[in-house]
Amino acid sequence: MTTTTTPTNFTSLGIISPLLARLTELEYQLPTPIQARVIPSILAQRDLIAGANTGSGKTAAFALPLLQQIHTEKQLTSKNTQGNYVTGLILVPTRELAKQVADSIKSYALHFNGMIKTVAVFGGVSANTQMQALRGGTDILVATPGRLLDLISSNAIKLDRVKTLVLDEADRMLSLGFTDELSTLLALLPKKKQILLFSATFPEEVQTLTQELLHNPVEIQLQSADASTLVQRVFTVNRGNKTALLAHLIKQHQWRQALIFVNSKNSCNHLAEKLSKRGIAAEVFHGDKGQAARSRVLDAFKAGEIEVLIATDIAARGLDIEKLPVVINFDLPRSPSDYMHRIGRSGRAGEVGLALSLIDHDDFHHFNVIEKKNKICLEREQVVGFEVDDIIKDKFPAADKPMAKPEGSGKKKRKNKTLVNADIWLRNS
Ligand code: AMP
Repeated sequence: MTTTTTPTNFTSLGIISPLLARLTELEYQLPTPIQARVIPSILAQRDLIAGANTGSGKTAAFALPLLQQIHTEKQLTSKNTQGNYVTGLILVPTRELAKQVADSIKSYALHFNGMIKTVAVFGGVSANTQMQALRGGTDILVATPGRLLDLISSNAIKLDRVKTLVLDEADRMLSLGFTDELSTLLALLPKKKQILLFSATFPEEVQTLTQELLHNPVEIQLQSADASTLVQRVFTVNRGNKTALLAHLIKQHQWRQALIFVNSKNSCNHLAEKLSKRGIAAEVFHGDKGQAARSRVLDAFKAGEIEVLIATDIAARGLDIEKLPVVINFDLPRSPSDYMHRIGRSGRAGEVGLALSLIDHDDFHHFNVIEKKNKICLEREQVVGFEVDDIIKDKFPAADKPMAKPEGSGKKKRKNKTLVNADIWLRNS
């Protein structure tokens, strides 16, 4: 994997040998740019605010130094976890992310031979098992805010000995309406603590939180060139042809896996039915499925047993599906930042990825807004056999605005809407 050209390695970042051994096993040859930049500051006990795109390797960026600090401290003091206390607290916006982050931490800690106890707590499942797991104290707790508050009110956990707080995907946490829960939780933390805040975007709410919380933080924003190797493309299509185009693309390219985003659970089910009629088996993933069913589908998708997954935005955050070749926006996300979160499911940690958006005449205005907010500018393309009707062609403004060359396409900038022979671009992508 080509992760980075940063001339550092994990040893020179100060990572200790049990972790280094594990990183070698996981084939993390070099730190990703975010890891190279944040690990030294975290080890130096600084507060930190990092603008990190999903897929940049940010979990290891905070997990490795956190594990290292806790392990070193435990060795020095020979103290074990106590009571219902927790040392490192990681707050995340979704259940899936909580599970995923905790799994990564447990994996990185493998050669600490059980010395570090990591627990994940999140809603949607019984609290009893989580309460039992918390007994005797916890070194690292990964939690969603709501469930954590429930567990605090049942005295299953105490936050007054937290040494490090990580706010992962802070923007999403606030946009999901966790502002009040966060304030309550923050008030329960001790005054002296290290805070690490990771966020893909920095809306006003996140900036306010940062100013109120962090003490003289190191600020790290990756250069866009570091962020990913993701190619973004936009296909204009008549509304009535969208499903046909999607089915055509899936069949034509035979992607190993595809994650398709729609905006509601009904659309998930509806699209799955329509694809099935066209001979494409797809599973659905949305918030109305129970936690057990969601985990089952996700595990099967991660294991490659499901090839096409149709999901709502609940899957747009934090899910780490190794080498996911393509993300398709069948419906455009409502918020421009969700566009970035969705497409960040592909092209992770330096892998080449592809993000496709299928837009019809009702979408063109909204897509312009998405581009503007995210400071991107993509060429409108069409696929042979699925051209838009003349009557709506004029609504697509590609002809009169500057067009960015699609990253990595190697093609010349075109002056007009592009008619793409699907065979050619798919082979190129
Ligand atoms: P994250 O942004 O934390 O969700 O990480 C995205 C993916 O990158 C995960 O599959 C990690 O296992 C992988 N990853 C993280 N750091 C590295 C690294 N230094 N080298 C290779 N893969 C990495």
